[in-house]
Amino acid sequence: MQKGSIGVTTENIFPIIKKFLYSDHEIFLRELISNAIDATQKLKTLASSGEFKGEQGDVTIRVSIDKNKLIISDSGIGMTAEEVDKYLNQIAFSSADEFIKKYKTQSIIGHFGLGFYSAFMVSKKVEVITRSYREDAKAVRWICDGSPEYQLEDAEKETRGTDIILHIDDESKEFLEEARISELLRKYCRYLPIDIAFGKEKEWKDGKQVETDKDHIINNTTPAWTRKPADLKEEDYMNFYRDLYPMQEDPMFYIHLNVDYPFNLTGILYFPKIKSNIEFQKNKIQLYSNQVYVTDSVEGIVPDFLTLLHGVLDSPDIPLNVSRSYLQSDSNVKKISGHITKKVSDRLEDIFKKDRTGFEQKWDNLKLFIEYGMITDEKFAERAEKFVLYKNTDNKYFTFDEYLTLVKDAQTDKEKKTVWLYATEADAQYSFIEAAKAKGYDVLLLDGQLDIHFINHLESKKTDIRFARVDSDVIDRLIQKDDHLQTHLPQEQQDDMREIFEALLPQQNSHFYVSYESMGEQAAPMVVTQSEFMRRMKDMSALGGGGMSFYGTMPDSYNLVVNTDHPLVKKVIGEKDADMGETLGKVKNELTPVEEQLKALNETLKDKKEDEIDQAQKDLRSELQQKEESIRNTRKEALTTYGKQHTLARQLVDLALLANNMLKGEDLNRFIRRSVEIIGG
Ligand code: ADP
Repeated sequence: MQKGSIGVTTENIFPIIKKFLYSDHEIFLRELISNAIDATQKLKTLASSGEFKGEQGDVTIRVSIDKNKLIISDSGIGMTAEEVDKYLNQIAFSSADEFIKKYKTQSIIGHFGLGFYSAFMVSKKVEVITRSYREDAKAVRWICDGSPEYQLEDAEKETRGTDIILHIDDESKEFLEEARISELLRKYCRYLPIDIAFGKEKEWKDGKQVETDKDHIINNTTPAWTRKPADLKEEDYMNFYRDLYPMQEDPMFYIHLNVDYPFNLTGILYFPKIKSNIEFQKNKIQLYSNQVYVTDSVEGIVPDFLTLLHGVLDSPDIPLNVSRSYLQSDSNVKKISGHITKKVSDRLEDIFKKDRTGFEQKWDNLKLFIEYGMITDEKFAERAEKFVLYKNTDNKYFTFDEYLTLVKDAQTDKEKKTVWLYATEADAQYSFIEAAKAKGYDVLLLDGQLDIHFINHLESKKTDIRFARVDSDVIDRLIQKDDHLQTHLPQEQQDDMREIFEALLPQQNSHFYVSYESMGEQAAPMVVTQSEFMRRMKDMSALGGGGMSFYGTMPDSYNLVVNTDHPLVKKVIGEKDADMGETLGKVKNELTPVEEQLKALNETLKDKKEDEIDQAQKDLRSELQQKEESIRNTRKEALTTYGKQHTLARQLVDLALLANNMLKGEDLNRFIRRSVEIIGG
């Protein structure tokens, strides 16, 4: 028997291993099984080169639990005593030592590199019984209890290969539970390239589950991504998807990646149906390195929008034991993500070209992904321009160029910008959509989660188009072609009527601007619109756009546009003149001389500085100002009181609010009762 001290600079690294890798203790199983796979694959290589002439036999790797021990056995190349000394005592330990040093200074993504010594994260003692494939090799046993001392002695072992026996420590009892080990095998080992057996297959006999003598193999050694695309059918891809994500809706299509230059990358990416809620859908891609599971968080390795895809990426060229910031600047990683982006856009373009109808059918489920990609990735945006679609309110789909051609003639304004009209809710904005269509315009339907961001993005690229929601203005002003006359209504009438309508508009959490427009007798008497700019700013702030929160706190601002051509509006104006003419005339007679006096006084004072004006003049000025204000207030009050009891005016305002779905609660109730009364006569 040989005793010795392992070659390591740090006095005792086990406490450190346990401490630093606390949350990742479970990876020991992946590390040990990876070693078993390597040892088995080396044997196969030696066999095919003729260096190993014996029988390979059954090379299944076996994982078993025996009371307080967890055992991993392989029939790989095994180790001689010299090899145990070299690999376990020196090389493996020094790499563990180095790993710990790195771990202290960087955050680690995949925890590759710790290897064999990760066994000590969960064991109080590790035993290795191994026998080399070499003909005259003797079996040896290596034992280490976690201190730098080890024992190496001869052992009994009939067969080639290595048994790693972990004496699980008291804090790690979970790794003696069958269910926990099954879970870990499924997580890390389900696609490893050599059969791994854990227990026996079970079957039902006389109403009871009994073990058979058949090995329970937990892995699929040739998962779809490792096979040639030519050997796979559509169904194989779908089955693999179902294996990866049981209970999920089938994906729309997939891409099989297979690159061997200038880096190694295989994988299958699936396009799931993405309808809403981006954050929820992210991080389903699994990253493998030679079929060993590494992680399911691929941020930093692929561009953000691609994390919406599902599937598997497998590359030994992605450095795994480095920090994320290092990953992002790694040239291989950059090449890989550039390549994947290109493949994804090629595939989409291909489907778009070959099967436009099919592409359109999938569009609603694809749109979020493509828009997200275009907003966040320049390269992808360039490529996607060819196939990004715009859907109108008649469910027709257009490319950018097609749509521009469609609307250019009718919808270009006097500033030479083509105005792309859109609705966000077909039902709620129905009357506006109809009005636009009646005018020969087309209306897009932009009801997606990212649409507002997307059109902002598009407007910043394409300066000759502008987006406007159909209800952002009355139809004649939506696309302004020339400076048309807005209204014939005299200013004084406008001012009077403004007081009346304002008295009838909701005051809470919103602000209304009353304006006038001659829209023709056929158009609605009044329309409520919301400015494109303000609404978009508010939408962006709701979506969490940076620096937008200011807009979120502003009250909603709307326009009440009064159609001065409409007979009912004319009627209200006429009634106001009849009912209020005398009162307003009196007010005017009082106001005019005060206004004139004030004007004349201001004229004489206009060149004087404030301290050059004498007190008498100051007093006169402030007296006149107060008088003016008080008369105006009287006028305002008179009109407000009058407006509040004006049933027709109130009915018109309510109808305009109702058309925008803005009449609610008590106001709606009153409106209905009033309408019933009016109908009753
Ligand atoms: P790595 O696998 O990264 O080289 P490890 O610390 O996991 O580092 O293992 C060190 C070495 O020990 C391996 O390179 C291998 O030569 C040897 N080894 C570990 N496990 C086995 C095994 N099951 N069979 C044969 N050799 C092994």
